Amino acid sequence: MQDVLKNLDLSEVNPGAGTGATWLECGGDMLESVSPIDGRVIANVRQASASDYDQVVLKAREAFREWTMVPAPKRGEIVRQMGNAVRVRKRELGALVSLEVGKIWAEAEGEVQEVIDICDFAVGQSRMLYGLSMHSERAKHRMFEQYHPLGPIGVITAFNFPLAVWSWNAMVALVAGDTVIWKPSSKATLTALAIMRIMGGVLRENKLPEGVLNIVIGNRNEVGERLVADPRLPLISATGSVAMGRHVGEVVASRLGRSLLELGGNNGVVVTTKADLELAARAILFGAVGTAGQRCTTIRRVIVHKEIFGPLADALIRAYSQVVIGNPLEDGVLMGPLIDRQAVERMQVALESLKKQGGRIIYGGEVLSGGLYDAGTYVTPCICEARNNYPLVQEETFAPILYMIPYQTLEEAIQYHNGVPQGLSSAIFTNDLLESEVFLSHMGSDCGIANVNIGTSGAEIGGAFGGEKDTGGGRESGSDAWKAYMRRQTCTVNWSGEMELAQGIEFGKV
Ligand code: NAD
Repeated sequence: MQDVLKNLDLSEVNPGAGTGATWLECGGDMLESVSPIDGRVIANVRQASASDYDQVVLKAREAFREWTMVPAPKRGEIVRQMGNAVRVRKRELGALVSLEVGKIWAEAEGEVQEVIDICDFAVGQSRMLYGLSMHSERAKHRMFEQYHPLGPIGVITAFNFPLAVWSWNAMVALVAGDTVIWKPSSKATLTALAIMRIMGGVLRENKLPEGVLNIVIGNRNEVGERLVADPRLPLISATGSVAMGRHVGEVVASRLGRSLLELGGNNGVVVTTKADLELAARAILFGAVGTAGQRCTTIRRVIVHKEIFGPLADALIRAYSQVVIGNPLEDGVLMGPLIDRQAVERMQVALESLKKQGGRIIYGGEVLSGGLYDAGTYVTPCICEARNNYPLVQEETFAPILYMIPYQTLEEAIQYHNGVPQGLSSAIFTNDLLESEVFLSHMGSDCGIANVNIGTSGAEIGGAFGGEKDTGGGRESGSDAWKAYMRRQTCTVNWSGEMELAQGIEFGKV
C-alpha cells in the first residue's frame, strides 16, 4: 500500500484542493480514505473550506482566459500528453482504484484504460469541433454556426468510477477550451488526487496556467452545495444517484445554468427462447457480478421467457457458485467487497423487503465473515425470483442483486423492461433478427443504450454514454457529446451591400 502511495506522490495527509501542480493549505476537516478491502485507513485528506473553494474558482476563471486562447488542436496535444502520462502509471493507478473502492485489479486497470482511451478520442476531437453552414434565404449572405468554449465547469463524480467518469468530462471539456473544477466522491478521494497530480505535472511541463484542471474535496455544505449553486460555473456535470441528480438539477435550473446528469440505472436484459443461453449466462454473470454489482450499468433485471427460466437460473447458479470472492488485488478473485458496511446493510434490507413483497432468493445474498471478510464488506452475489412491479424492483439497490422476472410474450417482456423509472442501459439476447429489431425500434427499449447479445455494462468510449427518464438524459464521452461543453453561436454575414430583412419584411427607407 505504501509503495502505491509513494509511486503516485501521495502522503499520509494530502491537501484536498489545488490544481494538481500546486495545492492549497485547506482549512476544512480531515477525511480518512478507508479501504473496503480490510477497513484500514489508506491515507487522509485535509478537506477544503468554503474560502478554499472560492480560491479554486478564481484560479479556474483566470486560467480560462488563457486556455481558451490556445488553439483547439494545441489543447488536444496537451491531452495527448496527459494520456501518455497516464499510460505509464496504469498499474499503480489501477492498484489504487482497487485499494480505495474494492474493484478487482483487472477491472480497475480497465478503468484506467478508459481514461487513456478518452484522451486519445479527445485528441482527434480537438480537430473536429465542427459547426454546420446553411444557405441563407437572403442573397449574398452567409450563415453558419460555431462552437465556443463555455467557461469553467463543475464536475461531480460518483465513487464507483473514480477516474473514468471525470476523464470523460474533463478531457473532452479541455479540448473544448473549458477549465474544470472536479468534486470527486468523498469515498474515492486519493485516486482523484493521484490523477490530478499526474495531469498537473503535464500542465506545468508545458508552462500552461495553473487552474486549467482543479480539484476540490470538501463536505456537502462547504463545497458540494456551493459548487452546484455557483453562477460562475455555466455547466455542472453530475454523476451519481437519482436523488442527488434531482436535487442538483433543480438547483442548477433555478439559476438557469446547464446540467448534464448521469444518474442511476435499473438495467434489464431480455432473454428470449431464441437466445444462446450459454452466451447469455456468461454476459449476465459479468454484468451482474462485475464490480460487485456497483456499476450504473449493472444488470439488475433478467426478463426471461417462462420456458427457459429454469435452465437459465440453473446456468447462473452454476456460474455464481464459482465466483471467488476476496481481496480484489489477488489473482483469481472475481468479486471484491462492497464500498462500505452501509452498502452491505442496504443490501440486507433490500433482501428482507423482497421477501415481504413476495419474491424469493434463489442463490446467495449472505454477508461473509471470518478472516478478511470480517471487514464486514463482503457478500455473496444474489439471484432472486421477482415480479417487475415490486416496489423494490423499481429501485436501484447498489449491490449484486439480480432479479429474474418471467414473461410470456415479447410485448410483455418489453413492457416489463420499460416499466421502471430509470432508463440507462438495456439488452436483448436472441438470435432472431425480428426480435432484436423490435427491441431496437422505438417500440422497444426506452434506454439510452440498447444492445443485442451483449450485456448492459462495459460501454466503449466511442459512443455517447447516458440514459433517459430518471437517469437524467445527459450524454458524455464519445459521439457528439462534446457539444455539451461548448456554447453554440449562429452567425450571419451580409456581404451584399444591401439591407434585406428576413421573411421578406419591408421596414421603411432611411
Ligand atoms: P451519490 O449520489 O451518493 O454521490 C455522487 C456524487 O454526488 C458524490 O460526489 C457526492 O458527494 C455528490 N453529491 C451528493 N449530494 C450532493 C449535493 N447536494 N451537492 C453536490 N454534490 C453532491 O452516488 P454514489 O453512491 O457515489 O454512486 C452511486 C450512484 O451513482 C448509483 O446510483 C449509480 O447508478 C450512479 N452512477 C451513474 C453513472 C452514470 O453514468 N449514469 C455512473 C456511475 C454511477
